[in-house]
Amino acid sequence: MNLNFTISELIHSDTAIKNNINNMPDVNSLDNMLDLLFYCLQPIRNLIKKPMVITSGYRNKKVNELVKGAINSQHTKGQAADFVVGGMKPAEIVKIIKNSNIEFDQLINEYNKWTHISFIKGKNRKEVLRY
Ligand SMILES: [Zn+2]
Repeated sequence: MNLNFTISELIHSDTAIKNNINNMPDVNSLDNMLDLLFYCLQPIRNLIKKPMVITSGYRNKKVNELVKGAINSQHTKGQAADFVVGGMKPAEIVKIIKNSNIEFDQLINEYNKWTHISFIKGKNRKEVLRY
């Protein structure tokens, strides 16, 4: 499979850099991130055929706290990523993913600003939400 993403894109956090926090995932989170990448992000990229910018992927507990993420956010387990696509609204992206056969746990249009998607191998709820 040809991949359009790098692990560093999924680990990068401005908040972590600014606060001098090592946002390196543990092995379990890394494993989850690879699933997210293979089963969600890359299939979405192949479907949309446009560059996706990951705005937030993995966040360790400290980083998640600083960005005021939900406690136990799937971002802290490497199971979720937020992204934007130039020229496409989150509502449009959510609709395309919803109507595809791509597996996901939660798909969220967050404030019409970005799309959040998560994946848990074997436990996907296929829940579509909006904040
Ligand atoms: Zn998110």
